[in-house]
Amino acid sequence: MDVKPCCHYCEDKTYVRKHGTARSGLMRYRCITCNRTFQVRYIYQGNEVDIRRLIKKLLAEGKSHSNIANQLGINLAVVYRYINGL
Ligand SMILES: [Zn+2]
Repeated sequence: MDVKPCCHYCEDKTYVRKHGTARSGLMRYRCITCNRTFQVRYIYQGNEVDIRRLIKKLLAEGKSHSNIANQLGINLAVVYRYINGL
């Protein structure tokens, strides 16, 4: 299952598409619904609860920590931070 980030602006994830990579190396996404682009880094700053929920869900599915980090486009250290906070 492909986990997509939800839009930083409208929180919709149905029409979020990959939109290349920012100069900083972060994944960029485009939300078709509100026609805005955002970087994955903003996701866990703006939607902490959603990321925590996704990590919990992926853990329940038996995904490895690095797998979760890859799927969510976040740093492994961030995954650990959330796991410790659960
Ligand atoms: Zn949007």
